[in-house]
Amino acid sequence: MMITGKTKVLAVIGAPIAHSLSPIIQNAALQAAGIDCVYAALPVRPGALSSAVYGLRDAGVVGFNVTIPFKTEIIPLMDDLSEDARRIHAVNTVVVEENGRLVGHNTDVTGFLAGFAERRIALTEKKAVLVGAGGAARAVLWGLLRSKVSSVVIGVRNASKGAALATDFAAHGDVRAYGFDDPAFTSALGSADIIVQTTPLGMTPHVGEMPSVDVVAIKSSAVFYDLIYTPAETRFLRAAAAHGHETINGETMLVAQGAEAFFLWTGVRPDMELMKRVLREELVRRG
Ligand code: NAP
Repeated sequence: MMITGKTKVLAVIGAPIAHSLSPIIQNAALQAAGIDCVYAALPVRPGALSSAVYGLRDAGVVGFNVTIPFKTEIIPLMDDLSEDARRIHAVNTVVVEENGRLVGHNTDVTGFLAGFAERRIALTEKKAVLVGAGGAARAVLWGLLRSKVSSVVIGVRNASKGAALATDFAAHGDVRAYGFDDPAFTSALGSADIIVQTTPLGMTPHVGEMPSVDVVAIKSSAVFYDLIYTPAETRFLRAAAAHGHETINGETMLVAQGAEAFFLWTGVRPDMELMKRVLREELVRRG
């Protein structure tokens, strides 16, 4: 598609940003949908966030994604927040409205839930276990609670971080946090219907790592979800599959959070299968 004076602009801001997969995925989807818009990766210096955000707004950008390290820092710059962004206290997508209002969204929640929806797995009244308590865990926890699971037990190595996360969401459901070696965590694993792995353990190049979760102790009907998408099957998911569990990796979450942002900016649902194909090809190219 030719870039002209009428071509609109989308972007992702972060630092570092050169390795972002979003420009490749989003530009392929924009082109396939015939939308006259380009998506660029813009490095923003630490300390320059507000001038960058207001500059993008004043230069007529339609919207942009936000990634590390700005997802929380950007919140005070927003004129409004979606419920998901407010609950998670992180923004990954900004819509610049025609009047210049900046609306912060978080599409990681919808992205995460798409992994279950794609397999027709219902979450209502299910018992969930969450491994890890970092940034992605907040989106996962809120997604689980929003979907009315009956309880969430968080396994952590850092007790105070786990307790803080559980406290933040205590008003929205039965949430408790324990150390990995706490008997209460082992007991929760035994009755879990869903296990979600949100630590970087097992991510390329550290593919030999996995969290200290005894897969054999978990009932075989439980579904395992690992947010990692490189490799496509982590050691954790491989162990679960070998034990007969259904497994979900982070690919759908990554693509679906981008697809939801695309929809917020354009009002059009992009071709998710195309986005997945482009992602896989790019991951192969990068080795
Ligand atoms: P983060 O904020 O750094 O959180 C990482 C969490 O993992 C923390 O709770 C940390 O514990 C824990 N952890 C790290 N190393 C550990 C270890 N050796 N043993 C036990 N726990 C450990 O990272 P994040 O942004 O949440 O991302 C986490 C993972 O999710 C990454 O692999 C990322 O690629 C993936 N992710 C995927 C998607 C997707 O779209 N598929 C989206 C977001 C994230 P402490 O709190 O004790 O440090």
